[in-house]
Amino acid sequence: MDFHPHEWKFRGEAEGDRRRARLRRGTARAEAPPTLDLVLTIDQATYDAIVAHAKRDHPDEACGVVAGPEGSDRPERFIEMVNAAGSPTFYEFDSTDLFQLYKDMDERDEEPVVVYHSHTATEAYPSRTDIGLASEPNAHYVLVSTREHGNNDGPVEFRSYRIIDGVVTEEDVTITPTEESTP
Ligand SMILES: [Zn+2]
Repeated sequence: MDFHPHEWKFRGEAEGDRRRARLRRGTARAEAPPTLDLVLTIDQATYDAIVAHAKRDHPDEACGVVAGPEGSDRPERFIEMVNAAGSPTFYEFDSTDLFQLYKDMDERDEEPVVVYHSHTATEAYPSRTDIGLASEPNAHYVLVSTREHGNNDGPVEFRSYRIIDGVVTEEDVTITPTEESTP
């Protein structure tokens, strides 16, 4: 393969900028129809980390990303984000954090496999605002609702969706045992 590191870096950065802008402004359109497997497969530890974050930040909405190798559909690297809106009804990634996130992901050849946030008083279904902001056609949009137990122990609603061009499709969630990390 003809490999030009500089070109790659440039293209990577440009792509990162576009994706960053899309995630921030929600102006995205799917560039190509992705082949979708309508299931989110996530390991127990990552699932637990998302739920713990949602409970901790209740009654404000919590938000974050689970990154994975590009094209892998494997959510591997849990990244808790700050809800810059600090709101019980809205979430917004801090723009500096978002810039850093995409820089890190570009360097690691990762993409956001999961984009999650919580609802604290309503069901775990994307709001009109959420649908408008959804800009990653390859991402699983996870919604957690803490409305029942708040900061306390107890089950949450944990649901996953594909959101493409304003169309919401719910998908199954499969939780797998966390592999022991090798030292
Ligand atoms: Zn929402």
